[in-house]
Amino acid sequence: MKTAIYPGSFDPITKGHTDILDRALRLFDSIVVAVIHNPMKHPIFTQEERMKHIGYLYQDEPRVKVEGFEGLLVDFAKEKNISTIIRGIRALSDFDYELQMSLTNRKLAEHFETVFLMTDEKYSFLSSSVVRQVSMYKGDVSAFVSPYIEEALRKKFQYE
Ligand code: ADP
Repeated sequence: MKTAIYPGSFDPITKGHTDILDRALRLFDSIVVAVIHNPMKHPIFTQEERMKHIGYLYQDEPRVKVEGFEGLLVDFAKEKNISTIIRGIRALSDFDYELQMSLTNRKLAEHFETVFLMTDEKYSFLSSSVVRQVSMYKGDVSAFVSPYIEEALRKKFQYE
């Protein structure tokens, strides 16, 4: 069975993330969505909340498993016995960083491969940080996230 890890902050999970995850499900038997706890970042949603959101959206898809991790991705992957990583590419601007990460991971763990999937063009401008900023000022984020995440954002920023 071929399994890959899709790592990220998912703060919150957007339609761009689910677009990549849905594409990955067509290529792999199962996907472990690995939600990062990064003490250097200050997410608006806790790691538990971010995991709960993804679990809710994929509750009917048993091929998606949601897990939290901290530390090096290669260590987490080794622990799970998985050697393939999925990353999404939006635009050329993502490429430098992703290439650097991918080559670093391969230096750390020899048989590690990163599979890059191109997003649907309608999500190429979309990021979690855009969603956070728009919703902080009570803007409409319905084109960017699912209704469940919209509701979670509304609760987080406490408006109706
Ligand atoms: P990280 O902090 O690891 O970049 P993110 O949650 O921002 O975590 O992103 C996780 C992955 O999803 C990355 O590979 C990122 O490029 C990808 N991604 C984020 N937004 C989109 C989008 N709109 N379309 C495609 N891929 C995306």
